[in-house]
Amino acid sequence: MTITARQRLLLVHAHPDDESIGTGATMAYYAARGTHVTLVTCTLGEEGEIHLPELAGLAAAEADQLGGYRITELAAACREMGVSDHRFLGGAGRYRDSGMMGLPTNDHPRAFWRADLDEAAGRLVEIMREVRPQVMITYDPQGFYGHPDHIQAHRVAMRAAELAGPEGCAPAKIYWTALPRSVLAAGMDAFADASDNPFAGVEAPEDLPFGTPDDQIAARIDATDAGAAKEAAMRAHATQIPDSSWLYVVASNFGAEFMGVEYYTLAAGRRGPGAGRYGWESDLFAGLPSQDVPAPAAAGAR
Ligand SMILES: [Zn+2]
Repeated sequence: MTITARQRLLLVHAHPDDESIGTGATMAYYAARGTHVTLVTCTLGEEGEIHLPELAGLAAAEADQLGGYRITELAAACREMGVSDHRFLGGAGRYRDSGMMGLPTNDHPRAFWRADLDEAAGRLVEIMREVRPQVMITYDPQGFYGHPDHIQAHRVAMRAAELAGPEGCAPAKIYWTALPRSVLAAGMDAFADASDNPFAGVEAPEDLPFGTPDDQIAARIDATDAGAAKEAAMRAHATQIPDSSWLYVVASNFGAEFMGVEYYTLAAGRRGPGAGRYGWESDLFAGLPSQDVPAPAAAGAR
């Protein structure tokens, strides 16, 4: 693949559907503006639930075909987001969905959770070498909410950036997905009296396993024009997100803002100019000096 776009964005996600739920608006937003968007998914999501009764037999404990099926869902989601460069880390099926923390699936020989860090990171470095992304998005050290594959995706992405540094192909900026506490609090208020309150039993935003103080947020990407593409991408993951999901209920109640605005903390690189009380960037490429693709000869020692 010859990549000529001046802006190149790399996303490292754990399972098919994480890209759409967590960063779908950002991906569609940048893809629509000519940025080369590369999605790396680390597993096939073999251990996911199945919300389509007619496909229940694909489950890991049955035919164990869910992973292969989810390749097609992910391809459809990428089409909705306008993203054509999608890869599985090490190739499809190299790493297996580890399942939730503490389950026996964590010990499967191919479980991503057990992957050798440098080996897995090396596979990502190969992609960095080819794509030369200026910006990378992944999860925080807790994997946003604690799933072992999300934690491992974080470790692999950060290690790859470290390994790629001396070659000059590490991303200049690294972002972690985040939800500001103020946004969580607003969501909790809005749902307080709803019968299908996804926050039922939660007293305060601080009690949730995610949520970042607003002053630690670095970027707010207003991709409301990509909100519809994000929702369409999520709907492509029909085995994982039923049509009755509260996510769609929230989307119809809050509209563009809920689907189309995504937030990030900056984990590496220099923050660009921003605005508002906390100086939030509105562009992940803000402050980056040159966005030209280096000639292959200047690509550094290998
Ligand atoms: Zn996931």
